Amino acid sequence: MNILVTGGAGFIGSALCRHLAADPRNRVINLDKLTYAGNLASLRAVEAAPNYRFVRGDIANEALVGALLREEKIDRVMHLAAETHVDRSIDGPGAFVETNIVGTFHLLKAVLGYWRCLDAEAARAFRFQHISTDEVFGDLPLDAGLFSEETPYAPSSPYSASKAASDHLVRAWHQTFGLPVLLTNCSNNYGPFHFPEKLIPLTILNAIEDKPLPIYGHGSNVRDWLHVEDHVRALVEVGRCGRVGESYNIGGRAERTNLEVVETVCEILDRRRQRANGARHRDLIVFVTDRPGHDRRYAMDISKIERELGWNPAESFEAGLARTVDWYLENEWWWAPIRSGAYRGERLGTLVAA
Ligand code: NAD
Repeated sequence: MNILVTGGAGFIGSALCRHLAADPRNRVINLDKLTYAGNLASLRAVEAAPNYRFVRGDIANEALVGALLREEKIDRVMHLAAETHVDRSIDGPGAFVETNIVGTFHLLKAVLGYWRCLDAEAARAFRFQHISTDEVFGDLPLDAGLFSEETPYAPSSPYSASKAASDHLVRAWHQTFGLPVLLTNCSNNYGPFHFPEKLIPLTILNAIEDKPLPIYGHGSNVRDWLHVEDHVRALVEVGRCGRVGESYNIGGRAERTNLEVVETVCEILDRRRQRANGARHRDLIVFVTDRPGHDRRYAMDISKIERELGWNPAESFEAGLARTVDWYLENEWWWAPIRSGAYRGERLGTLVAA
C-alpha cells in the first residue's frame, strides 16, 4: 500500500510513519511543512528505509500534493498535519485557520482531483483518513456521560473550532463528491517524541531540571489519556476495516485530572531519581491562572470502534506513563536541543500547558 501521511514529522505522525514503514509492504510518503512542531529527529529510525520518503511542503500547495499523489500512486491519505497547541491558538488563531481549515480544503481539492482520475478498482479501494480530536465536542460536565460519535459539535477554543471545521469539510467532500473518507476523533495522546510544550513532557522535563511544574487553575480539568502507539494501531484498523463515511471515537478509558497526571509523573520520578535534600518532585507543583475557555472534561465512548473493529487500548495509563518517563530520561539527545533553544530559536520550559 502506498500511503501519504501529512504532518508525519509531528508527535503522532512520526509514530505513525515509524509503525507503517516497519512493514516492507507499505510505501510511506511523509509530507510535512516542518513548523516549530515538526522534527525530523523523531524519524531517525526510518529515514534510511527504502520504503520511506520525506517531502517538505505545505498541504495547502495543491500542485505539490497532486503531483505527489500521482507520482507515488497513493492508495491512502492519512491527514494529521495541523496546528495543534491550544495555548498558541489563543495567542495567534490565524495559523490554525490557515492550516487546519484552509489547508485541509486545498488538500481535499487535490485529493478529489486525483481520486476522480483513478480507475474504478483503485477508486473503490482508496481512502482519505482524517485524524481529529475529542475537543470538537466541547465542554463535558464532570457528572455527565461520555462523548459518542453522535454528540453535537460545540468547540470552545480556536484550535478545536478549526478542527471541527476541518471535520465538517471532510464529511462534506464525502456527502457531496463521494470521496471515500474515514474520520477519527481521539482523546489526549502521550508517549515518546512529544513536543515539550504539552503537559506530560513539560512536567517530566521541568521536574528533571528542578523547575516549577505549572498547572492551570486547581488542576481539576479531566482528560482521557491514550498512548500514542495505541492511537496508531487504531488508525491502521480504521483504515483497514472502517466503514466509509463513518467516524470513530478513539480513547484510552483513562480519565485523569491534570493534577493526578502531574502527581503520577512526580511519583514515577521519585522512584527513578533523588532530588537534593530528600525533597519530592511534587513540591515543584505551582498553580497558575486558568486558560480562558478551558473545557472541564473530555471523555470518549469507544464502544463503536471496539464493537466494529475489535480495537481497544492495550497499554494502561500508569504503565504507559512510566515507560514515557523512562524514554525522556534516556533520550536527552532528542529533547535537549528543543529545551535549550538551539532548535528553531524557541526557548521552551516555562510555557504552561494542559
Ligand atoms: P503536532 O503538532 O505534533 O504535529 C503537527 C505536524 O503537522 C508538524 O510536524 C507540523 O510541521 C505539520 N504541519 C503543520 N502545518 C502544516 C502544513 N500546513 N502542511 C504540512 N505540514 C504541516 O501534532 P500531533 O499532536 O502529532 O497531532 C497530529 C494530528 O492529530 C492533528 O491533526 C491533531 O489535531 C490530531 N490529534 C492530536 C491529539 C494529541 O493528543 N496530540 C489528539 C487527538 C487528535
